[in-house]
Amino acid sequence: MYPEYPPDLNDEQKEYLLFNLKDWSIAHGLAVRPTPTYVPTEQDPSAALATTAPVTLFPSLFPRVCFGQAASVVNAYNELYSAIASDEAWLKDIVEELTEIDDFMANLWKVHMEVKKEGYAHTLNLGLFRSDYMVHVDPSEPKPLVKQVEFNTIASSFGGLSSQVTGMHRYLRSVDAYPESMANIVTESSLPPSTSVPGLARGMAKAHEAYGKSGSGSPTCVLFLVQDMERNVFDQRHVEYALNENHGVRTFRLPFSRVLKDTKVDGERNLIYMPPQTPQKQYEVTVVYLRAGYSPSEYEDQTAWDARLQIERSKAIKCPSVLLQLAGTKKVQQVLATPHSPHLKRFLPDEKQAADVLKTFAPIYPMDKSEAGMGARKLATDPETANRYVMKPQREGGGNNVYRKAIPDTLKNLPESQWPAYILMEMIEPPEQSNVIFRNGELQKGGVICELGMYGACLWRQGQHDGEREVLENFDAGYLLRTKGDSSEEGGVAAGFGAVDSACLV
Ligand code: ADP
Ligand code: MG
Ligand code: MG
Repeated sequence: MYPEYPPDLNDEQKEYLLFNLKDWSIAHGLAVRPTPTYVPTEQDPSAALATTAPVTLFPSLFPRVCFGQAASVVNAYNELYSAIASDEAWLKDIVEELTEIDDFMANLWKVHMEVKKEGYAHTLNLGLFRSDYMVHVDPSEPKPLVKQVEFNTIASSFGGLSSQVTGMHRYLRSVDAYPESMANIVTESSLPPSTSVPGLARGMAKAHEAYGKSGSGSPTCVLFLVQDMERNVFDQRHVEYALNENHGVRTFRLPFSRVLKDTKVDGERNLIYMPPQTPQKQYEVTVVYLRAGYSPSEYEDQTAWDARLQIERSKAIKCPSVLLQLAGTKKVQQVLATPHSPHLKRFLPDEKQAADVLKTFAPIYPMDKSEAGMGARKLATDPETANRYVMKPQREGGGNNVYRKAIPDTLKNLPESQWPAYILMEMIEPPEQSNVIFRNGELQKGGVICELGMYGACLWRQGQHDGEREVLENFDAGYLLRTKGDSSEEGGVAAGFGAVDSACLV
């Protein structure tokens, strides 16, 4: 596309760019905490240290048509996934095959069933989604398209840092940190700011408002349910502060391990939060925003499941509920992407919306004993063909997939009864491009792969019957561009593979 992009910098240019980048990052909270193994040192006795988040030096080039295509389906995806999460019977059919072989899925389903037995305490649902894409060039198509990598319904991260990194690249341009040769490419109008911070905060504020008055008489708050060791805390803080500052909503951070200590569910099933630092004060929780609870490793024993149940059975609006979390599994994505399947139409009756969403699907196959599954097994066990695929279990948070040539060996060591817990997906092969990643004080220059995430917010009221619902809010909530070196299969920034980036539309 632009083979000379990004241009090489001389030593003075590099130094000028880097010192601007480092100062801007820290001044604007484009930052992360040290790794969990970090021990306080003499220079930092109270572990107050933070460092710049991994970023790209330059905004990566991204086709404007692809960005537009991804943006144009945000509302349809909000609609689609809110509809899926509202159809328990349909989800049950899909999840059933998994619960037999996957304990984590089974335990999640159990939480849902227990609450269902008692009856859900309210009908409001909040989704803060992120649909992830890569650019795909199909020789038979006149323009490049985006193809969906996955759809996230729980703990969709980097909305906080994304707004900051688009700000940083815009700033670097404005202070002439980029050489003259970029001036025609990186312009004011080619660098869209990401509105993910105000967007995600607005989603939570709308839910908070819809919850209505406190039932217990205590003041209300939004609870950020977080992991104990969180490096990516500023990403969350940006959204939290925006909720505070733009909407006047009180927020608290609660580590998942403290749910049973610091919260209780009262007789009306209000979720009451008791801050340990001010035990005389109590708050009624309107929204629980989960940035934890998506990985089996967080559920070490029954108390963690009890904690999840406590949240789920309370009246607080869960972002997400268990059903919405399950709607975001790769299995659901595979079922939707099955050619000629009736499912997409069922949830998206609007034909134009359904057709646009369909265009974003890459081929995905089950690994069960269905006809399609048997075909996929053949592809996956032959090293020649497996090389074009990625095999994914029903997991989130990065580091769980099996790529290309590693698939046949993994299957050899996996009992066949476990295979249906996975899906097989064609690798999307985006066009080659380069950038420089700044991570842990080091520069890495070379070929990169970009992944575009589109955030969407959706608030809906579940109807009396399966499939019935009323959508109260449906809006887009900014974007994320993540970039990784092209030799790494995984793309997670927090998992240590990628960097936050912004799109330079071309
Ligand atoms: P997770 O929920 O753990 O983030 P993903 O499906 O997003 O799982 O996979 C993790 C990473 O693997 C992605 O960020 C991407 O870099 C890579 N990946 C996943 N699926 C594909 C695909 N079909 N084509 C190319 N890369 C993929
Ligand atoms: Mg992902
Ligand atoms: Mg995911």
